[in-house]
Amino acid sequence: MIVVMKGGSAPEQVDAVVHELGKMGFRTHVSHGVERTLVGAIGDKTGFSADHILRLDGVLEIVPIRRPYKLVSREAHPPDTIVRVGSLEIGGPDKLHVMAGPCSVESREQLMETAEAVKQAGATILRGGAFKPRTSPYAFQGLGEEALRYLAEARERFGMPIITEVMDSEDVPVVSHYADILQIGARNMQNFTLLRKVARTGKPIMLKRGPSATIEEFLLAAEYILSEGNRDVLLCERGLRGVEQTFMRNTLDIAAVPVIKRESHLPVIVDPSHGTGKWYLVAPLAKAGMVAGADGLMVEVHPRPAEALSDGPQALLPGTFDRLMAELRAITQALAAAGGSDALTGRPAVQA
Ligand code: PEP
Ligand code: MN
Repeated sequence: MIVVMKGGSAPEQVDAVVHELGKMGFRTHVSHGVERTLVGAIGDKTGFSADHILRLDGVLEIVPIRRPYKLVSREAHPPDTIVRVGSLEIGGPDKLHVMAGPCSVESREQLMETAEAVKQAGATILRGGAFKPRTSPYAFQGLGEEALRYLAEARERFGMPIITEVMDSEDVPVVSHYADILQIGARNMQNFTLLRKVARTGKPIMLKRGPSATIEEFLLAAEYILSEGNRDVLLCERGLRGVEQTFMRNTLDIAAVPVIKRESHLPVIVDPSHGTGKWYLVAPLAKAGMVAGADGLMVEVHPRPAEALSDGPQALLPGTFDRLMAELRAITQALAAAGGSDALTGRPAVQA
């Protein structure tokens, strides 16, 4: 439920509500909106007395949270969540957060070469797989901790935070030791024990949507992370298993971006690389994702795609990535000049 405070309620009144709800066994989260302060409360309702809360000073009303994904929902927390990674603020007014780098870290040289190029082009976060979820057990499985060490070295050298996937609960300590953002891959979206475990690291988590997950399943998976007390979650749309298997690897669900922005306060990232599987589809879909209201992108880049040990066909060459970044800057500036991309997220409940 949400306890709505009257306009101009004092901080002590909010504290009293939080205190009383805590005594009734609820976990609470306060969000300060422009007009009102809301106290979201999650927990077992057995010991709950609405009358007691309604009698507290400053309380306007109690509203039930109808969505099954309670903490993730915009109902519970109307303002956009901003996920802070070092000095970056993902989910705020600055929309151009591009996570770029190779699918897999293949060698120190390959990573450094790619990191330098993506940094130069304007990427703000470096990606690179160390533990790789491959369809075939005979395909390259990643360099493991060696790759994490190279990523950490690249972070120092190029001043970029790093994101990498954690595939297994066993690897959570080592991956969280090195990474700034932990990625949960599409195949693990509903690995609930893994979700709880990564949540408890306290690090920002990027959760990728499963290839056949509904939006509700996706948001409920994110709810697992928030329910552990970690609110720093990025939701990544990376394409669904669609009818087309020849011309694209997956079908990128662009409409999911405004849907999720409307349903949830969490930042949305679009991955046009896995979303299409073809390098020449990456730029068009990256731009579409931004225009649809994404807070950032994830793009795979490789200096020699033909030699890549994974996902070569979808890798951009550094020069192509550089041109894409220039276009993305122009698009985000145009959207900001038009009053921000919020108008495109469908968030206002009424048409105007
Ligand atoms: C990746 O980002 O390297 C990856 C494997 O992505 P996904 O889980 O979306 O397939
Ligand atoms: Mn990949």
